[in-house]
Amino acid sequence: MKDTRLPDWLQKYNHVRFNPLTGQNVLVSPARLNRKWAGASTEQCERLPAFDPTCPFCPGNQRANNDMTPKDGRFYPFYFINDTGAVVPPSDEVLASLQYEGAFHSAKIAFGICEVVVHHHRHDFTLATMPQESAVSVVNMWIQRYRELADRAFIRSINIFENYLFGASQKHPHNQIWAANYISPSQKVVLGNLQGYLDNRSACMLQDIAAFEVEVKERVVWSDDHFVIVVPFWAEWPFEMMIIPMRALDSVLDMTEEEIVSFIKAYSFAIHSLNSHFGGNCPYTAGLYQAPTDGSGNGCGFFHAIFRPPVLRSIGVYKWMVGYELMASPQRDLTPERAASLLRGED
Ligand SMILES: [Zn+2]
Repeated sequence: MKDTRLPDWLQKYNHVRFNPLTGQNVLVSPARLNRKWAGASTEQCERLPAFDPTCPFCPGNQRANNDMTPKDGRFYPFYFINDTGAVVPPSDEVLASLQYEGAFHSAKIAFGICEVVVHHHRHDFTLATMPQESAVSVVNMWIQRYRELADRAFIRSINIFENYLFGASQKHPHNQIWAANYISPSQKVVLGNLQGYLDNRSACMLQDIAAFEVEVKERVVWSDDHFVIVVPFWAEWPFEMMIIPMRALDSVLDMTEEEIVSFIKAYSFAIHSLNSHFGGNCPYTAGLYQAPTDGSGNGCGFFHAIFRPPVLRSIGVYKWMVGYELMASPQRDLTPERAASLLRGED
């Protein structure tokens, strides 16, 4: 194994870090941390009610399509198909084969299924604050939905993600599942790099990274025998975290019951660490990366989760990816090592 010590200059001087999953760089600028901060620092610590009569996901309330949400909390978690999803199933073969090839432009029809999973009857709970058995039920519903959607011949990839207090129209605990007839270009790149690593070294890159990070400890936020949370060396968002399984898994289908409990512990810890650091409910977007359902990418160890909270100094002030970050490459001032230390509650 290579030297695990980071050179001191990485914490002091501006530099570029490489992400072996995407092949892209992130500009890390710790020298900028000395500049005067002129941003607002107002905290937004909203207290949500246990029941909101205007919330379509609270028990007994009506959803946009006029369906009623179950009155009995025992029917949670439940899922429903998003009627106005970004992709919908193909209505016939002609529609499913539509393609356009122009002089410079090309396009083809996109279809799939978008579902919503509502986690718990309590409006104010999160996956971190609801009873652990309820959170495990949510993961079991993700597994059930993944299995059923993967069985549809026209589905090639399934993305399970959660937007909390950020990019979500409802504050009630829920997440989305988008299953589509294509694999996104960014996930294809990651799969290609994982496959290349497997071919060259007969090992899975993410599991090698997980073992390395557990040994080094510097970027580890939490770990147990099955999963580790790290702030990746190449993290783009200031408090970005990855949950990586210690053994190679393709999707949620591969988890044992013990691993499911461990995964939800990790997921909860990631949320708690953010809330604890920021002193309130921290917004985040989190997603599960899983092998395509067409069989490509199996065996690469693609399954992992990423948390991307859009904050830096306060949960009341969002971090935006703008300017140079949109034009050239992501940039951050706080080093990932320092972010991990803060999320562990140190200092
Ligand atoms: Zn609600």
